[in-house]
Amino acid sequence: MEPYFADEWGNASSAHSFGLKANQAIEKARKQVALLVGVEVSQVVFTCSATEANNTALGAVLAASGKKKRILTTATEHSAVLTYCSAVSRHGTEVDIIPVLPSGVIDLLALESALTPDTAVVSVMWANNETGVINPVGQVAKLCVERDVLFHCDAVQAAGKLPVDLKVLKIDYLTVSGHKIFGPKGVGALILEPTAPFTPLLYGGHQENERRGGTQNVPAIVGFGMACELAMAEHFERIDHMLRLRDRLENRILSEIPGTYLNGGGTPRIPNTSNIGFDGRDSETLVNLLDQYEICVSSGSACLSNSVTPSHVIQAMTGSHKKASEAVRFSLSHLNSNADVDFLLKCLKMILKRIG
Ligand code: PLP
Repeated sequence: MEPYFADEWGNASSAHSFGLKANQAIEKARKQVALLVGVEVSQVVFTCSATEANNTALGAVLAASGKKKRILTTATEHSAVLTYCSAVSRHGTEVDIIPVLPSGVIDLLALESALTPDTAVVSVMWANNETGVINPVGQVAKLCVERDVLFHCDAVQAAGKLPVDLKVLKIDYLTVSGHKIFGPKGVGALILEPTAPFTPLLYGGHQENERRGGTQNVPAIVGFGMACELAMAEHFERIDHMLRLRDRLENRILSEIPGTYLNGGGTPRIPNTSNIGFDGRDSETLVNLLDQYEICVSSGSACLSNSVTPSHVIQAMTGSHKKASEAVRFSLSHLNSNADVDFLLKCLKMILKRIG
């Protein structure tokens, strides 16, 4: 990214040679993103966040949907989808929230019976950001094709951690993000199926082939592209490493700390996320105390961490406010080590002893 902050500072929309170099860098990144998800470069629209990509996708559907004004989504989606849905529901769009099973997986039977002819789009995330639980997106995609309904999938947590290949799955709109795969924050992409209706969210210049007005953030896009390339090149090593660490973390916490339990266990999950309940403990307290040891965990999604509302994801899975308020999310990466996990265990035990 560095040269594009200082030396290659051209605006990718400019016709002069500085602009051209910036534009070439963006096109290289577009190829890297396209390769990660198995699409053509023309299908990739860069955005400034995954939130923007999610809003763009759902907005594009509603703009083209005519009388079909119904969105189906799940109770465990990220707020980038749920808050958008509650906003449009105040302006005449009907939104149905499909429940999840106790495992955290979408209730496919409920989805199937909610798919009425006035449904414009189904928005189901690939993997959940708080529990790592993977949804059966292949089955959702198939159902949407059968019922002739558009499918939007928030794949922010899946891309780079699972094989995401749109050559074998028909997903009309797919959202990906830079900072979940070690790219920079503030960059994402919306992947469009060539037949999917499209209307921009942001009108302005001719950028992104008329699909997203606004000067592109060249360094961020370059970083995102490189992050995709590395995620592909190191895929198996990273997954293997994270799985071993995750098993160590879960086995040690569950066997050595009484009153702990796994949220979303027993169903496929992405390899970096563990969500663990601490019976009778307030997750906010644990998050704050662990932070004193420079161990950064969370009690919900980062976007909600300033609020005291317990996790809507765990609430939807368990129906229990208590369980939602005692859930802690641990995220690992290929950069963590066994020693990190062991240090976490040591600190957790000290903290729990201290707070009694
Ligand atoms: N969707 C999911 C599943 C996420 O985990 C996140 C971020 O945490 C987002 C969307 C929003 O991403 P951004 O903050 O880049 O808009």
